[in-house]
Amino acid sequence: MFAQPVALRHAQVVTDRGIATAVRYGTNVLSVDTAPSPGDHVVDLDDAVVLPGLINAHDHLELNHYGRLKCRPVYGNASQWIDDMRPRLRNDPSLQCGQAFRLADRLFIGGLKNLLSGVTTVAHHNPLYPELRFRFPVRVVRRYGWAHSLGLQHGAAGARGEPGGDVVARFRATSPEHPFLLHLAEGTDQAARDELGQLERLGCLGENSVLVHGVGLSDADWCRVVRRGAGLVWCPASNLFLLGQTAPIRQFRDACPMSRTRICLGTDSRVTGSFDLLDELRVAVEAGLMEPAEALPMVTTNPARMLRLPDAGRIATGLKADLLVIRRLADDPAASLIAARRRDVLLVAVGGRPLVADPELAGVFAAHRHPATLVRIDGAVKLLDAGLARRIQRCAIHEQGVECEK
Ligand SMILES: [Zn+2]
Repeated sequence: MFAQPVALRHAQVVTDRGIATAVRYGTNVLSVDTAPSPGDHVVDLDDAVVLPGLINAHDHLELNHYGRLKCRPVYGNASQWIDDMRPRLRNDPSLQCGQAFRLADRLFIGGLKNLLSGVTTVAHHNPLYPELRFRFPVRVVRRYGWAHSLGLQHGAAGARGEPGGDVVARFRATSPEHPFLLHLAEGTDQAARDELGQLERLGCLGENSVLVHGVGLSDADWCRVVRRGAGLVWCPASNLFLLGQTAPIRQFRDACPMSRTRICLGTDSRVTGSFDLLDELRVAVEAGLMEPAEALPMVTTNPARMLRLPDAGRIATGLKADLLVIRRLADDPAASLIAARRRDVLLVAVGGRPLVADPELAGVFAAHRHPATLVRIDGAVKLLDAGLARRIQRCAIHEQGVECEK
């Protein structure tokens, strides 16, 4: 049976043409700022904020069940952290336990983390495991090239021991139409500061290069990245945890006015990063690193452009209905997003299909002809797609704060 179109009205709908008050959708967005049509399931949102489903531009989906790990207060370079982690992975019983879970379950927790925070598309940094291709809670960028970093080309980076990858070979093997993902300058020492020059000498800084972290980049380095058409994924929570510093984003913007569209936000995994993308946004604003208004493009239009996802990151007629609805928590929609936590998420729909909703929006599940199950997320009652709730119950790893009815 076909799903019934849904009309969300009396809302603050963030579109690339400004704020609208209504949006109608089925699998795709049907219209913006129009009255409901006969047969629509109509939802009055009481000024709640409708955003494009968020894009998390950097995660390692299989690493979100460990919690934060490090052996020293501050590192000069992420490669020192990797060197510290290697023996711990072999010898620490709790880490061995974490590695023993099925990869499908580990990846699922990464997907669930993203979905519950309003992310509908994530850029996974590591191989595109088969488990990510089928019935995964969020969309995962499928067309990409990657290598771990200049410092970890031959050592294991993937969950099954896959190598970090020869940067030159991987870059050349990546179509210029697809993003090439690489950790770069993840440190404050000289080795990190030298990495961009090294990448340029190797001929691997291209228009499709998506550089992750960039903490060791100077203003002049950054301007060269922008001139080349490349961009940065900024993960401030992870950087502050590991390195005690992050990329000077404000300085970058002052140095190079074109920067505005070239920076996106990523969580990294919970091994070093924030709890989820909502948490990451808050960390960045509360640390005085950016204004709320700057945050929205970093999790919508900028990653859509850099990751070559023309359908994602905005609400417009004809595009996929990947939507996030959050409670209105401030006058400005961007400020509401910064203030939002998982309990403030009223709806996440992927391709129009509701996966998480507030009980007040129960009708969206009926309109989509999909059953829903009551759960508690951080103490708040929510509805989850019943298939997703069953998958949570089958998963050997517990996602913190999520309680399904037994
Ligand atoms: Zn990473």
